Amino acid sequence: MKTKVQLKSYEPIIKTTPENWYDWKWQLRNSLKTLEDFEKHFDLSTNEKEGFQISKNKFKIEVSPYYASLVEKGHFNDPVRQTFMPNSLEGQTGLQEQLDPLGEKNNSPTARVLHRYPDRALFLVTDLCSLYCRYCTRKHFTGKDQAYVKKSEYEQSIDYFKRHSQIKEVLISGGDPLTLSNERIETILKDLYAIPHIELIRIGSRIPATLPMRIDQQLIGIFKKYKPIYLMTHFNHPNEVTYDAAERLEMLVDNGVPVFNQMVLLNGVNNDPALIYALSRRLLHLRVKPYYMFQCDPSRGSDHFRTPVEQSLQIQKKLWGRASGLSLPNLSLDIPSGGGKVGFTPNFLDRVVGNEYQFTGWDGVSEKYISPSQDSVILPHVSELYQSEFKI
Ligand SMILES: *Cc1c(COP(=O)(O)O)cnc(C)c1O
Ligand code: SF4
Repeated sequence: MKTKVQLKSYEPIIKTTPENWYDWKWQLRNSLKTLEDFEKHFDLSTNEKEGFQISKNKFKIEVSPYYASLVEKGHFNDPVRQTFMPNSLEGQTGLQEQLDPLGEKNNSPTARVLHRYPDRALFLVTDLCSLYCRYCTRKHFTGKDQAYVKKSEYEQSIDYFKRHSQIKEVLISGGDPLTLSNERIETILKDLYAIPHIELIRIGSRIPATLPMRIDQQLIGIFKKYKPIYLMTHFNHPNEVTYDAAERLEMLVDNGVPVFNQMVLLNGVNNDPALIYALSRRLLHLRVKPYYMFQCDPSRGSDHFRTPVEQSLQIQKKLWGRASGLSLPNLSLDIPSGGGKVGFTPNFLDRVVGNEYQFTGWDGVSEKYISPSQDSVILPHVSELYQSEFKI
């Protein structure tokens, strides 16, 4: 595959045959989990070693050999390393620390379903991930080893979706749903699309970034069979965009799966407009639309990853206008305790006087926009035809 963007190259940290390396189950079997596993491949700092103690019984530690290979050796502050390597900083009590910052437990009508917005809901099919991001927002659920959803909970969830006809989209999430077998994924897609009002399924998965070899031909075949499937992935840094990742993203898109990226702004990892720009250009070229850039949630032990809101806005402002609109993700945060997502954008509005709105654009051009003041017209075809669809 040829690309016009630079892809990250890497040396596998474990020498093995290509058959093994490109077998995702081999990758999971050989994942690094313990301090001893990590010490075989990394010189650990004191903070990192302490991180193993602090994380015990709190948040699982695991990384695939593939993803661990993306670390540039010798830098403790390597961006990829920081996202999976435990650190003593996780033991600090955060400013607004919450185990469940999105208040998800309150929006969970049955175990495994999160229903916060009218026309879409999340279905948490597994709590397993291919790796455990140290800043994970769903630490109250992720990596607790319940693995695949229990039969009774599965049935309750499907029943919930059936009984709520305003739900048009189901977001299959977790954990990482692509850690499940192709057979299980097919069953979930089949059961959901058997419900007449489910129009769209999204799958949320970090696997294209962390274990791209998981995206196999059989899985692609399933996605084609149950179209439309949208894949919502999670790349945070250009160093994650390898040839392997690019190849699997291409397979997805070539086979009709639109791919969107939901990144998290992380202090010391990617909080610089040049990095966001580089990541976005790579993704766009690979036909992945940068969708969200999330402010990091105050989940337990993640304060050292959080960026000041003011800085997040400055980063977005620096990109606005300079970077292609297509490459620009929406900056968004979740209101703690389950308030939901809110977008926040840099301010371009200087003042409002009557119906005159004074704006200064990205490169300093300033002018007023005079807002018309006419009564809005009631469109008859809207009330007749489309209003009923909008009863959400
Ligand atoms: C983010 C989220 C969604 C999806 O939101 P979009 O803005 O449509 O991408 C749905 N449900 C919950 C609970 C969420 O947190
Ligand atoms: S892949 Fe997602 S759910 Fe899993 S640990 Fe990372 S952020 Fe959390």
